[in-house]
Amino acid sequence: MKRMILRAPRRAEEAPLSLEEVPDPVPGEDEIAIAVRACAVCRTDLQLAEGDLPARRLPIVPGHQIVGEVVAVGARVSSWSVGDRAAAGWLGSACGVCIQCVAGKENLCEQARFTGWDIDGGYATRAIVNASFAFPVPAGFDDAASAAPLLCGGVIGFRSLGRAGVRPGMRVGLYGFGASALLALQVARYWNCRVFVATRSIEEQARARAMGAVWAGGYDDPPPEPLDATVTFAPAGDVVIAALRAAARGGTVAINAIHLDRVPSFSYDLLWWERNLVSVSNYTRKDATELLGLSDRIPLRTRFEQHPLEAANEALVRLREGKVEGSAVLVM
Ligand SMILES: [Zn+2]
Ligand SMILES: [Zn+2]
Repeated sequence: MKRMILRAPRRAEEAPLSLEEVPDPVPGEDEIAIAVRACAVCRTDLQLAEGDLPARRLPIVPGHQIVGEVVAVGARVSSWSVGDRAAAGWLGSACGVCIQCVAGKENLCEQARFTGWDIDGGYATRAIVNASFAFPVPAGFDDAASAAPLLCGGVIGFRSLGRAGVRPGMRVGLYGFGASALLALQVARYWNCRVFVATRSIEEQARARAMGAVWAGGYDDPPPEPLDATVTFAPAGDVVIAALRAAARGGTVAINAIHLDRVPSFSYDLLWWERNLVSVSNYTRKDATELLGLSDRIPLRTRFEQHPLEAANEALVRLREGKVEGSAVLVM
């Protein structure tokens, strides 16, 4: 197999990933081997490669939005067969017995292990994944389109809609309009919600309207109606406060960001009348299965650009420079 491996984090321009050829790995008893066809490039991969996200293991193969074909199954695996199409994401495994796992919140499991961080990921022609944490991919979706950004930003955006309490018919706000918000908009529209999009970019505002948003404006422009449920995608506390300012009584603002610069102090009036401010961390298998199920039915449209595996460093540079159209996907 070929893989792009990270040994020492450094700036993307200095090519932190190097190409290696090694023997094909063999799955353990509860694992499957996937011949990777596509693996999307996430901002988390960039942060890991550059050392902004501390490595948990080195060397490591990054990549946690994997789509491919099952080529070998472990002795105890009954849910997968050779030839099946399978996907794997960030959640590599969870303990299954802690209070969070038992409550269906495996995304909060303290023993969780993550693909491309604790376990070698999909910047490779082969990946070994835990059979219980892999997903079937809907037939109508091609490999690259399913990998990106459905399996990371897409599914976390989908969880964010749930955390914001989105129900059919609501007035839904999306603050920030990247690849993940683009999917969230399509899901919210499918649920007959009216969607209001705030983003700095005039081009993205126009794209949001073209995709069916009833309103699009800047972060500080008040939407024409109060919003029942909002997800903020920008890693900026000021945007969270702007979203809170637009929230209806009883409304919720869910922060979809791993890092936020800060939460500025704000008047309690913005929270009064039972408004809620919540965070979103990772996703559960239930979130991923539901989104993949919906993706075929809606059907979801995604935007992505393709790169060969060997060009992973160049893809990371493009991502940091903001040149990627939609999402970048490595195609093997
Ligand atoms: Zn990711
Ligand atoms: Zn657990």
